[in-house]
Amino acid sequence: MLHYKAYFLDLDGTVYKGSTPIKEAVEFVNYLQTNGVEPFFVTNNSSKTQKQLQEKLANMGVHTDSEHIITSSIAASNYIDEHFKGKSVFMIGEKGLEDALDSKQIKRTEGIAEVVVMGIDHHINYEKLATACISIREGAAFISTNSDHAFPTERGLVPGNGAFTKLVEHSTGIEPMFMGKPQPYMLEIIQKKYGFDKEDMIMIGDNYQTDILTGIHMGIHTAHVNSGVIRTEDVRNQLEQPTYFLESLSEWIK
Ligand SMILES: [Mg+2]
Repeated sequence: MLHYKAYFLDLDGTVYKGSTPIKEAVEFVNYLQTNGVEPFFVTNNSSKTQKQLQEKLANMGVHTDSEHIITSSIAASNYIDEHFKGKSVFMIGEKGLEDALDSKQIKRTEGIAEVVVMGIDHHINYEKLATACISIREGAAFISTNSDHAFPTERGLVPGNGAFTKLVEHSTGIEPMFMGKPQPYMLEIIQKKYGFDKEDMIMIGDNYQTDILTGIHMGIHTAHVNSGVIRTEDVRNQLEQPTYFLESLSEWIK
């Protein structure tokens, strides 16, 4: 299955499940690399840095450089650098977002700002939400890393960044701009950087609402893999179908 030059792989539910690697995906990545293709890893997770994700993958037998890992935080910092250069930024988020902003020398403030960027923050509180809301009401651009309402943990589903973003949206009446999947912005950054043609790109993931729609919005081929949150039978009910249905990525190792 070496039709493509750029393989974009979702992480959770596709390459691993929490802290457990998915064997077939690890083998698939190794197979691509043996054949001279370096895949890209695309995640809505805004809390982790590229380096942290690189280490997590390495512990699972997936070796890649941080250039091939893109997060919604990287997309957000690129976007702010491109559209709001020199503006003051108020951040709600963790190390992943902090490092991404630092890498573009984006200066942050603790007070009212011209840009508000929100990513998951396990220490979010009323004061941070108030500063975000007041800034936005005073005209700040409103950027959010991703719209995921919930994400799975050992305890069950817990609120995701999309839920807190919704709170700020509800209070201000202003809609945010989302950077992560299903928006194609992360893929566009890589396409721009490496100059891929759309017919050479494929998005692979377990979640129709994020991964497959990202590929569809981008206008590239997609593969749904039945290893994560959304089962094949539920994807078959969708109006726009992925290009391929796979039980596991081992189907593509020939
Ligand atoms: Mg997933």
